[in-house]
Amino acid sequence: MNSAQIKKTEKLNLNHFMQGLIKRNPGEVEFHQAVEEVATTVIPFINEHPVYLENKILERMTEPDRTIIFRVCWEDDNGVLRTNRGYRVQFNNSIGPYKGGLRFHHSVNLSILKFLGFEQTFKNSLTTLPMGAGKGGADFNPKGKSEREIMRFCQSFMTELSKHIGQDIDVPAGDIGVGAREISYMFGQYKRLKNEFTGTLTGKALSFGGSLIRTEATGYGCVFFMEEMLQHQGDSIDGKTCLITGSGNVAQFAAQKLIQLGGKVVTLSDSSGFIHDPKGLTEEKLQFIIDLKTKKRGRISEYAKKYNCSFHEGKRPWGIKADLAFPCATQNELELKDAKHLIKGGVMAVAEGANMPTTNEAIEAIRKANLPFAPGKAANAGGVAVSGLEMTQNSIRLAWSRDELEERLKNIMRDIHQQCVNYGSGKKQVDYVKGANIAGFVKVADSMVAYGAV
Ligand code: NDP
Repeated sequence: MNSAQIKKTEKLNLNHFMQGLIKRNPGEVEFHQAVEEVATTVIPFINEHPVYLENKILERMTEPDRTIIFRVCWEDDNGVLRTNRGYRVQFNNSIGPYKGGLRFHHSVNLSILKFLGFEQTFKNSLTTLPMGAGKGGADFNPKGKSEREIMRFCQSFMTELSKHIGQDIDVPAGDIGVGAREISYMFGQYKRLKNEFTGTLTGKALSFGGSLIRTEATGYGCVFFMEEMLQHQGDSIDGKTCLITGSGNVAQFAAQKLIQLGGKVVTLSDSSGFIHDPKGLTEEKLQFIIDLKTKKRGRISEYAKKYNCSFHEGKRPWGIKADLAFPCATQNELELKDAKHLIKGGVMAVAEGANMPTTNEAIEAIRKANLPFAPGKAANAGGVAVSGLEMTQNSIRLAWSRDELEERLKNIMRDIHQQCVNYGSGKKQVDYVKGANIAGFVKVADSMVAYGAV
């Protein structure tokens, strides 16, 4: 091998790689964290496959195809002009049009959207559907805004975003702060601007191209994935005590599926704290939460008052003894000390409903304890998978039934689990982090190799 060839296939070193990434993306701590989590398990695999080294796949995969940042100007109810910052990070379209949610939250910045877009690359690849990866949003907080203010914001946001998306280019969906209401306002504006009716956004209402099961998909999918992990060990959800954080879309439907499968959900939370109901949620109690959060837009503490259980202000539930844990609220909500509490409390498995809710140190502790840990890119892929099925239904101008869609979702989650087993099986336990990262990587990487230097 001559010196040029040696350089071309020079092995990657994690520290060196991360130093370079941090230098190129200063201050983007969430993005660094997401890349490090992937690089830790993928670099040893890449080093065994010179074709990925030669094609500098990881260097290319950690650089978004394109980042669009724009001003969103809108008028509030007092006639005052307000300005927010809008984003769309088109991360990777190697295996399909860019696809990923829009987040409206005051914390939104480029680092958070790059971490989410990067994660989405692997997640969408795992779904087995032809979807590339993107993520976007704005530092706009819908909380406390009137309906009209939200409508005007969404319309202004879409006026710019519409220039960059399309059914074969980039198909956004919802995320934190973007539910059916916001998607409807944005879809209405897109349709008006483009004078076309296409499936350019997913998460639409059923009357204009939405898919059944999309609302439930992320939470249901997460529970299906947990069921697969437990079945792999000859166990099941039935009779297990479960901790859930969050009380939004993902948390609500994770809770619903757990109740249906015989699980006992004893906690839910929001940004003000968590409720602990040792008797467990029922369908009726859950309906109260769904109404509280999606209609009244109230606080979780109201549940504790109504059902006479405890509310723990400003706290997280990880100290409560339970069998299964589902972090379903937001990033970095399960830290090392929380993981230690869970392990001490005898937790059997953890599945991430949210994106990156577990810090890298906490993941390490859970893996060292030989507990099955399902990373979000595998466990919460059900949402984007049904979004992909919404795109298919829009393209063929048909709507599938609830049963058919739930069956498809279940099969996709089973398939993702199998991919994790294929790439992550170890002596004692399946390493789901490694399995998901490598399985997600291979499909995208092979496509990038096939395209050459683009
Ligand atoms: P929602 O906006 O419906 O709900 C978010 C929930 O998290 C709310 O209960 C919210 O409480 C809580 N929360 C937000 N920030 C914090 C915080 N800093 N501390 C504690 N709780 C907090 O969002 P989703 O349920 O849709 O999304 C939840 C997570 O799942 C996100 O990480 C998202 O990216 C991920 N995800 C969502 C998918 C989907 O289909 N919806 C798909 C895949 C991943 P409060 O009401 O007080 O704000």
